[in-house]
Amino acid sequence: TGTLMAGKRGLVMGVANDRSIAWGIARAVAAQGAEVAFTYQGEALERRVRPLAESVGSKLVLPCDVTDDASVDAAFATIKEAWGGLDFLVHAIGFANKDYLRGRYLDTPRDVFLQALDISTFSFVSVSQRAVPLMKPGGSLLTMSYLGAERVTPHYNVMGVAKAALEASVRYLAVDLGGIGIRVNAISAGPIKTLAASGIGDFRYILKWNQYNAPLKRNVTIEEVGGAGLYLLSDLSAGVTGEVHHVDSGFHVVGMKSVDAPDI
Ligand code: NAD
Repeated sequence: TGTLMAGKRGLVMGVANDRSIAWGIARAVAAQGAEVAFTYQGEALERRVRPLAESVGSKLVLPCDVTDDASVDAAFATIKEAWGGLDFLVHAIGFANKDYLRGRYLDTPRDVFLQALDISTFSFVSVSQRAVPLMKPGGSLLTMSYLGAERVTPHYNVMGVAKAALEASVRYLAVDLGGIGIRVNAISAGPIKTLAASGIGDFRYILKWNQYNAPLKRNVTIEEVGGAGLYLLSDLSAGVTGEVHHVDSGFHVVGMKSVDAPDI
């Protein structure tokens, strides 16, 4: 525990359970004195999120479905009423129809494309629109991306396109908000076994491939993503915006399969 985030209040969106990346970040900032509010999607997840939130002393646990503007408005209205302001926001939300997280990107239908980009990309813009008016200079917005935004990774398909648009959104938002002292960054995490990841075809193979070929020869944990999240949400990163920071055991630097990687 420490005091890096003492006096800061933030909203963490995207905890589904104790394996969620959002939970890794929430725990890291709470351990440094941040006061954290949580949103969850739907009643089924409330039963999982509420006890986690309470374990880090959170008093604000709110429903929010990013496809429903009224629900997003209501969540931010509650934050405004309770806190009057906001210092940071974590957006760890993504979704695509899993029937299309396998096979060819070529075969993506329009409705699947639009839904994936709506939930995984536009929602970051949408929640930023509501968060920014609550922020003062020093505010920090953070979202979550993956290497599939930059290069083709197996089965990631429409999510890769959504993450490419998300990373570009980070850069545009960083310019929009830099003048008022608000920073916007993303973490590009290596593969982690979460609820969302279980929808991706051959995910176990992807985990093994990263483990064998990443410079650190292992996969990353939500605690490690939490550490990087803490940095990007705290004043330690005061000079950093528009950045996509890789937390992936270094996998993104590798150009070829490692010569000593075992067969998978
Ligand atoms: P997760 O399943 O724990 O979290 C995904 C969250 O998105 C859930 O809490 C879910 O409720 C939320 N969500 C989906 N649709 C929503 C909607 N309409 N409204 C509100 N919330 C909605 O999985 P995760 O892996 O922790 O995912 C968090 C983020 O990290 C995602 O953006 C994901 O793409 C990204 N990411 C994951 C990995 C990985 O390997 N797990 C790697 C890089 C990036």
